[in-house]
Amino acid sequence: MCAAVSSLCPVFAIVGMAEGEAAKSKRILVTGGSGLVGKAIEQVGKDGEGRPDEEWIFLSSKDADLTNAAETRAMFDRFRPTHVIHLAAMVGGLFRNMKYNLDFWRKNVHINDNVLHSAHEHGVTKVISCLSTCIFPDKTTYPIDETMIHNGPPHSSNFGYSYAKRMIDVQNRAYSEQYGRMFTAVIPTNVFGMHDNFNIEDGHVLPGLIHKTYLAQRDGRSLMVWGSGKPRRQFIFSRDLARLFIWVLREYEEIEPIILSVGEEEEVSIKEAAESIVAAMNFKGEVIFDTSKSDGQYKKTASNSKLRKYLPDFKFTPFSQAVKETCDWFVANYDVARK
Ligand code: NAP
Ligand code: GDP
Repeated sequence: MCAAVSSLCPVFAIVGMAEGEAAKSKRILVTGGSGLVGKAIEQVGKDGEGRPDEEWIFLSSKDADLTNAAETRAMFDRFRPTHVIHLAAMVGGLFRNMKYNLDFWRKNVHINDNVLHSAHEHGVTKVISCLSTCIFPDKTTYPIDETMIHNGPPHSSNFGYSYAKRMIDVQNRAYSEQYGRMFTAVIPTNVFGMHDNFNIEDGHVLPGLIHKTYLAQRDGRSLMVWGSGKPRRQFIFSRDLARLFIWVLREYEEIEPIILSVGEEEEVSIKEAAESIVAAMNFKGEVIFDTSKSDGQYKKTASNSKLRKYLPDFKFTPFSQAVKETCDWFVANYDVARK
């Protein structure tokens, strides 16, 4: 495994060059490598999942603005990857999505088209892009599965993001049909973990609540949970998602996407999620639900039965343990955490 490209880590510097160094048969470019999911993949690699024939390159927006076609092409010219894990995106929680539907649509459509087309032009063997369970139709039957992506309009709160993500699935099919490309996608549920975006206005619910609990504790105030607390979510720890991403890279050979999620029985309400954070941070103050704020989509319960057919024994980190690790990381890294 390799660190971020900006620092030109040793593994990158010696690729295919060093005496006695086995040639690396896979050069894996990770767009969005500086974000929540990218950092988790990098860490899992450092923790022992890396293989000697793989070279990993983690990109951030400082390396190339992927909304720009020329910069994207130049990045592919420079690194000539054999594989791409495409994570880069404009990302945010419910409240950021509601404010910037147009920006979510335009930025993500540009990024995705630039990355997929550059990958095609450079003959990349395999691309794995990242969708999300929030892109499924709002009016649906449950559990949601991989066949339902295009069955109806997404929830109105994040239609810009959702339609942009759905178009990746359309493009993957088209590259496969027209050119035989192996471009696929994964569909994670709500992700959380170390290196998340803990910004209260922009981020997702768990990092937002962790940050708010930290401040409420520090300042002796109440914790404000937005909305009724009744909506339900399946959360996936970024480390578990990272391990699954590496499996998809090495083993998954379908163009059709795969949902990466804990089981339906692991779904929790926002109230229960807030209680987990309160327990993990030993917060003793009052918890208030601000029902003037939006609840967003009530639920998007997803089936992981396709994943379970491939990986019946995969063990997800228990939610309370993953929340505790994330809270501890945030407190220990308060000064440097993204917020
Ligand atoms: P994140 O922490 O916000 O990271 C976003 C990454 O994208 C960063 O590395 C960022 O680079 C990069 N990026 C953004 N705009 C870019 C641009 N114009 N050019 C180049 N790079 C750009 O996001 P994440 O939570 O890791 O999400 C990773 C993927 O998972 C995304 O595709 C997202 O849609 C998907 N996903 C996320 C969740 C979730 O709950 N977080 C759930 C389902 C799916 P900088 O660090 O330089 O800004
Ligand atoms: P979603 O899963 O895509 O809807 O996005 P979020 O991760 O932002 O979760 C939104 C849900 O969490 C809604 O039901 C919100 O009302 C609720 N929520 C409660 N407190 C917060 C908070 O501090 N930040 C965010 N983003 N959502 C919150």
